[in-house]
Amino acid sequence: MSRKFFVGGNWKCNGTTENVKKIVTVLNEADVPSDEVVEMVISPPFVFLSLVKGLLRSDFQIAAQNCWARKGGAFTGEISAEMLINLGVPWVIVGHSERRTLLKESNEFVADKVGYAISEGLKVIVCIGETLEQRESGATMDVLFAQIKAVADKVSKWSNVVLAYEPVWAIGTGKVATPAQAQQVHKELRDWFVKNVDVNVARTIRIIYGGSVTDTNCNELARLRDVDGFLVGGASLKPDFVKIINSAS
Ligand code: PGA
Repeated sequence: MSRKFFVGGNWKCNGTTENVKKIVTVLNEADVPSDEVVEMVISPPFVFLSLVKGLLRSDFQIAAQNCWARKGGAFTGEISAEMLINLGVPWVIVGHSERRTLLKESNEFVADKVGYAISEGLKVIVCIGETLEQRESGATMDVLFAQIKAVADKVSKWSNVVLAYEPVWAIGTGKVATPAQAQQVHKELRDWFVKNVDVNVARTIRIIYGGSVTDTNCNELARLRDVDGFLVGGASLKPDFVKIINSAS
């Protein structure tokens, strides 16, 4: 079963109109494999979605970094799944650890967002990950299984989900998971799908890795059996992101 490699660029809360244009120019001129080989998804902040969508070449897709957990309405400051669909944005990132931690998003709230986004026709990059303390206390898989179980209770259309394993201790720290650590977690996640969802979903779901991925560590990670791509933060704002995309080939 071959799973199409997936590389997401999560720009987080960064950018100005000027440097968004510069990054898009780099991507538009980049020599990358065809979108039959790698799915490339760029996630700018909400305010730049239309700008990026208008400028970026069509083999790159775009993603929002969050959306509201149900139909829009009286929810000041939120962006609904319907609005993203209306704007022609096909993807959304949900459950990023920065939101889980800083904005206190619970497993259930994240799962509600994923379920609603999928019911509206969005594709979702669902982020899960353990803290250093949880890893050191041996709780990694329990934490990840609880995060994914909450989502599984709300989702049946798994073809619209990419699962991003992002250890919290590796995000923005320069401390990348070792290939052995990444492969072990990804394999255990896939086994969880075999036991709790469906063998076919387990075989087909893309499980990508995020956390200090750079052009120097991506090739080794990309070769791992159960690593189907990356969600890249800091390095996605730099021209080296193109090298990370090329780790797909
Ligand atoms: P990083 O972030 O690549 O800067 O570690 C990854 C992420 O938060 O998605």
